[in-house]
Amino acid sequence: MKGPLVRIALVSAPWNLLETPSLPLGILSAAAAGCQRPPEVQEFYANLDWADYLLDASGGDLTPADYGYVANLGVWYGMGDWVFTSALYDQPDWHRAEFTAHLERVGVPPGRSFEMAQHAERFVELTARRILASDPDVVGFSSTFQQNIASLALARRIKQLRPEVRTLMGGGNCAGSMGAAIHRNFDYVDYVISGEAEDSFVEFVDHLDGYREVSEVAGLSWRAEDGSTVVNKPAGAVRMESAPCPDYRAWFEAVNASAVRPFIQPKLLYEAARGCWWGEKHTCTFCGLNQLTIGFRSRPAEQVLAHLREMIERYRLLDVVAVDNILDMAYLKSLLPQLAAEDWDLHFYYEIKSNLREADVRLLRRAGLVQVQPGIENLSSRVLKIMEKGVHATQNVVLLRDCEENDITVDWNYLYGFPGESDEDYDEVLAQFPALAHLQPPAGSVRIILERFSPYFERPELGFGLRRPAAHYEHLYDLPPDELQEIAYQFVTDERGIGADKAAEVRAAVRQWRAAYPQSSLTLAPDEDGSLTLADRRTGWPQREVRLAAGCEAAAYTALLKPRRVEAVAAELGIAAADLEALVADWQRQGLVFREGGRVVALATRCTSIKSGEA
Ligand code: SF4
Repeated sequence: MKGPLVRIALVSAPWNLLETPSLPLGILSAAAAGCQRPPEVQEFYANLDWADYLLDASGGDLTPADYGYVANLGVWYGMGDWVFTSALYDQPDWHRAEFTAHLERVGVPPGRSFEMAQHAERFVELTARRILASDPDVVGFSSTFQQNIASLALARRIKQLRPEVRTLMGGGNCAGSMGAAIHRNFDYVDYVISGEAEDSFVEFVDHLDGYREVSEVAGLSWRAEDGSTVVNKPAGAVRMESAPCPDYRAWFEAVNASAVRPFIQPKLLYEAARGCWWGEKHTCTFCGLNQLTIGFRSRPAEQVLAHLREMIERYRLLDVVAVDNILDMAYLKSLLPQLAAEDWDLHFYYEIKSNLREADVRLLRRAGLVQVQPGIENLSSRVLKIMEKGVHATQNVVLLRDCEENDITVDWNYLYGFPGESDEDYDEVLAQFPALAHLQPPAGSVRIILERFSPYFERPELGFGLRRPAAHYEHLYDLPPDELQEIAYQFVTDERGIGADKAAEVRAAVRQWRAAYPQSSLTLAPDEDGSLTLADRRTGWPQREVRLAAGCEAAAYTALLKPRRVEAVAAELGIAAADLEALVADWQRQGLVFREGGRVVALATRCTSIKSGEA
């Protein structure tokens, strides 16, 4: 016979985004039903509470926009974590001078971080007491990105106030050795779950309830009697079809009662797949997707459809962000046609592989995938090969063109700094950036950083021998270097690839592209006599119509809508390769085609996109 039901408080600490629920909390609260005796679960959205508290305590001066700045940009510089260090160490302005100097060195404005930090200690006190008022046996924290220090500060205060309450941490920040390091270094964290947590969480609750030994909870770090950390065998990869549909009812209750509600547009989060089918065989060299969980698994299309229907009807929202690392290509034949048939007017965000066919892109649009992150990364085939992307640069350009045509927003960044790349890899492409003015530009261009679990991190022989925790970690954790090394996710390393001058050139070229894009278009229309008319309205180019004569010219340009070699198109059309070469060279001078790595692709879109206002 067991005692009373286990009571669990699940906490999503700052700086989870305000617009979206916590997927881990939504999943775990649903997964709890699978315990031998389902526990009482209460969810605490301390991130919303923090934004509310800042608004209130500052008389409306510290707004959700200020929160958003720290939550989004701060992730690369430890800004949000630093805000809670004073609460964690009971020292106002802990390492403030050093942290300020760090931000100045990297040239990033602190936003309102320093003012926010003044409120952190009081907020932690109030929140710890509020959580304890629910009388929990266990308080669990899901920690990803910048949620570590706030979670630790809350866990510490909770243990001070009520030592018998057990504390648990999990989430992305606890993957692999990072989880054991958190457990080893913070004795007020009783348990840590590393890896995918649905099954481990159920096993953990069953352990608390007396149904299994602590050593039988996969992925769990716990304390032996002598205080040392014991790490159980790793948790396996969860089968997606058995993972529950997230339950967001508590989040919607919280957000609707929150003072930040008028400032935000809520979005649903959904996870149809885990791992990466590309990374299983050729992990992109910079990608920190955990090797332990890279094996690709996806839900059956029918289940995804049923879950989406359930969520849309329950929460009355059509904005859905898929957190999958990559779209399951099988969904092109199963899920997406069904979504298209539903006519839901869905606004679905998805990460995809960039080598999609034009028909696939049209299907994405019809299925409601109006915003994609295709991992374009670079437009040099040689650099793409170095990073094991498995696409040719011209395929990336085709995707940009087809998304432009289909009014799909593309999120991408231009990455540089790969071992083995050279200035020449950039020169050829930068010279052609002006021709791409009508296609969606990268949000920015950045040197890659070394992430734990990435091939570049795991295999120093690939070019990055040095691996030191990124500079901000020493202003967040009061730990010796060897422990910092275990807790960090981002690392400082040797600068590889192009130097500072070429990098500045790339950044300037991206800025120009971004400035030119909103007013630019280059469209293609067939004429009745078989000729083609290209209407050029790109910034920086003569505003004019270019006519491609019926026959060889029109046929060649049409053939080049797919990336091709000049010789192959010439052979197909039965014309001399030298003649076509001359034509293509002329088109390249006029910016009508993109040429790279031996292939050529036509740049004109077949209709005007919404951004030009002419659709
Ligand atoms: S970057 Fe994307 S495609 Fe490459 S391994 Fe990582 S998840 Fe897969």
